[in-house]
Amino acid sequence: MQAMQAKPPRIDACTRCGACCRAGGPALHREDRQLIVAGHIHTRDLYTIRRGEMAYDQIRGVAQPTRADIIKIKGQGRSWTCRLFDAAAGACRIYAERPLECRLLECWNTDRLARAYARGRLTRRDVIGEIQGVWAVVEEHQRRCDHRRVLKLLAPGPDGRAERRRRELAAMVRYDEELRARVLARIGLEAEMLDFLFGRPLRRTLPGLKAAPAPGGAPAGV
Ligand code: SF4
Repeated sequence: MQAMQAKPPRIDACTRCGACCRAGGPALHREDRQLIVAGHIHTRDLYTIRRGEMAYDQIRGVAQPTRADIIKIKGQGRSWTCRLFDAAAGACRIYAERPLECRLLECWNTDRLARAYARGRLTRRDVIGEIQGVWAVVEEHQRRCDHRRVLKLLAPGPDGRAERRRRELAAMVRYDEELRARVLARIGLEAEMLDFLFGRPLRRTLPGLKAAPAPGGAPAGV
């Protein structure tokens, strides 16, 4: 007689198994701003996917350039596991104060999350727009290191302009690196906060390794 296959148990309530926390941290929404203000989430634990940067839309299942900032909680080391997940305890460190997406996610039915996913996302302006001096630097960086411009520079174009595009891209990467170093030296911020202020370093986010500029020089393979 064949052994009967046991059906997996049907889930219709959160068992706090941590599977969703291990799949990656949430993007923050405007109502999560208070969690930063109250100190439940520190900006060192966040990174910004800047306007124009490629990002994977989990609901639509496509990678596309973002229309505005997406602020996310970082992973742990090189893993996707949300940085606020305590692996030893198997629990969220801020469970009672967890962000909107974590409260809406029901792994057995993602409808509630899907409806809120792209709405009312938190931006850097919402968090630091009123901090004199800092916001102006962030805006200037956004203007000079605009990912939309980066994508244009990386796109195939007339050969005669390749050298000019390489030089412009190299200058952007240099500016991005120098600004981060300057901010660290002058303001004395934690280095980990830079990923929130200026997004991840341009050298790391340039689409495709081949297109990344060589250190201190012109970008290769453009
Ligand atoms: S904030 Fe908490 S609940 Fe949300 S993904 Fe991170 S560890 Fe999990």
